Amino acid sequence: MDAIPFLNLEFQHKQIRQAVSEKMMTVYDENRFTLGNEVINFEKDWAAYIGTPHCVGVGNGLDALTLSLLACGVSSGDEVIVPAHTFFATWLAVTRCGAKPIPVDATHHTFNINTEKIAERVTAKTRVIVPVHLYGQACDMTRIMDIAEKNGVLVVEDNAQAHGARWLQQRTGGFGVANATSFYPTKNLGALGDGGAITIFDHEKADFLRRARHYGMSERDVFPDRGLNSRLDEIQAAILRVKLAMLDEWNALRRELADRYLQTLSGVGDLILPLSEKEAYHVYHLFVIRSQKRDALRIWLEKYGIGSLIHYPVPPHLQPAYSEFGFQKGSFPVAESIAETALSLPLWPGMTLDQVDFISEQISKFFR
Ligand SMILES: *Cc1c(COP(=O)(O)O)cnc(C)c1O
Repeated sequence: MDAIPFLNLEFQHKQIRQAVSEKMMTVYDENRFTLGNEVINFEKDWAAYIGTPHCVGVGNGLDALTLSLLACGVSSGDEVIVPAHTFFATWLAVTRCGAKPIPVDATHHTFNINTEKIAERVTAKTRVIVPVHLYGQACDMTRIMDIAEKNGVLVVEDNAQAHGARWLQQRTGGFGVANATSFYPTKNLGALGDGGAITIFDHEKADFLRRARHYGMSERDVFPDRGLNSRLDEIQAAILRVKLAMLDEWNALRRELADRYLQTLSGVGDLILPLSEKEAYHVYHLFVIRSQKRDALRIWLEKYGIGSLIHYPVPPHLQPAYSEFGFQKGSFPVAESIAETALSLPLWPGMTLDQVDFISEQISKFFR
């Protein structure tokens, strides 16, 4: 069997090559490269897909999160509840607003925020809860929306890893007041460069965000707010529109591959396999297994040309950037244990079931 890279976009890109090149040339010929019709149309498509009345395209996921929090009025002195186990950018958005991240530990079986532990972290300073739908699986949004409502705080979803995922019948990114996502090339819906978007319910926040991504400008040379420069490019919006039409199909392929992994890895060694909750339509942005022998397993797989990655080896609370908060090792034991045991296996649309079987065989062999 040939080497199996962790991620390969060839299959997806072959399918849409013609459509993408035509779109790129259209943008080229129209000579409009920011905030034109492609962005407006993609925003309409993405809002309709997620199920919110408004969408604002921005430059990347980190800015989408930061701007969403700003739209909720988050500023210095505020507290924002975040998962202890997430990508660093979730926390970075909070501290960029001058607010303090208040971590809540993960659950072992879903990797997502432990909803049992959210309410106890709410204080008078709490403004927002940021659930992250990690690895493609929705958090328990029934619980989270209920906790937020009872405590008078807002919800901003980090939907960077869960394009197309659902909790019950509703798509993730369609629960909170303003929800951020990233179209970084490796995400389920990826641009050919950076991109991001915010899906929003209320009109005023949408207007604020349209200004805020564009210096805080309301009309030429009029600046009611101090904004950022974080625009989604026309060319990326055009490409995203082509790819959005394929997203459900590609997610279905991801699910098929994940099912095969779950069958072939069941009962192998000390593996803990990802659990898909019955209310969640999991879109497997990543397929993450856990083992106490993770590091040795990773080297073993490398020997057979199988790529794997760790998402994420050091949780944000233990990163040097956040040493000022004084979090100690041991403060979020589940997140720390995930960091020590998690291993992401190859999974991308176009990967074959034979490749999954080969990987599972090598893993079984490792444990024998
Ligand atoms: C990718 C990602 C981001 C950041 O998105 P960028 O576009 O890279 O800024 C934020 N949160 C999560 C959970 C992500 O996976």
